[in-house]
Amino acid sequence: MDLGISGKRALVCASSKGLGFGCAEALAKAGVDVVICARTEAPLAAAKATLEALGVSVTAVAADVTTDAGRADVLAQAGDVDILVTNAGGPPPGNWADWERDDFMGAIDANMLTPIMLIKAVLPHMIDQGWGRIVNITSQYVKGPSGILGLSNTARAGLTGYVAGTSRDVAKHGVTINNMLPGIHATDRAVSLDTGLATKEGVSFNEARAMRSASIPAGRYGTVEEFGSTCAFLCSQHAGFIVGQNVLLDGGFIGCTM
Ligand code: NAP
Repeated sequence: MDLGISGKRALVCASSKGLGFGCAEALAKAGVDVVICARTEAPLAAAKATLEALGVSVTAVAADVTTDAGRADVLAQAGDVDILVTNAGGPPPGNWADWERDDFMGAIDANMLTPIMLIKAVLPHMIDQGWGRIVNITSQYVKGPSGILGLSNTARAGLTGYVAGTSRDVAKHGVTINNMLPGIHATDRAVSLDTGLATKEGVSFNEARAMRSASIPAGRYGTVEEFGSTCAFLCSQHAGFIVGQNVLLDGGFIGCTM
């Protein structure tokens, strides 16, 4: 399917690996020039080379997108963009008794205020030109409960509320804002969670992964390619009537009818 976005320019945050990279790659395959960022130089350079091989222009910015200075750098090098994909590393798991005010503030900064500030920065140009696409990577736990990911739940619920209202406000300008809610995907984050489960349960890494896979109705982890393709569709010309939605990609894990 021709997504109708060849020649557009996208800023995809936290994108040297994992879900962010999957989104950048799918957009690049659709002919979109991409600006990517991450904190660590070597994987960022490798991602840039992979994306450039797809024949698009790639700008790579080594920066922490959750800091004011890092975000300013990324936005300055990105310039005016047609598409924004927000993303950053997720908060650590834990327990309600572990978390102090500073832990919540860190999560809120990284996973709520960072995307909100990025959205605020790109909206004026998108509104002026009458076209824009914004996708936020959040989590399946926005839809269903998880005790151990309370920091993530708290911050992402705030972002979800902001998007619900703001997306309706800007839709008349041809700008859509939607969220993608990943379930378990085969990325470094999943490796780290599987390793933690293996240690906790006294089982091997493969046994831990099999346990988590068995908890998903699809019986497997999602792939970054599946995730990226969905993102590219939400950023396409075809998705202009999809406004303020929370698109769950979880292999059926979250038990909800709607
Ligand atoms: P990942 O494989 O660990 O990749 C994270 C990417 O983001 C890397 O390129 C990393 O590079 C970059 N990054 C992280 N923090 C950054 C920061 N502050 N500034 C700039 N770049 C940053 O993670 P993932 O699995 O793709 O997860 C992406 C998001 O989806 C996270 O918020 C995660 O909590 C959420 N999520 C993931 C899953 C899953 O199963 N994978 C499920 C639910 C939710 P550097 O480390 O070099 O900066």
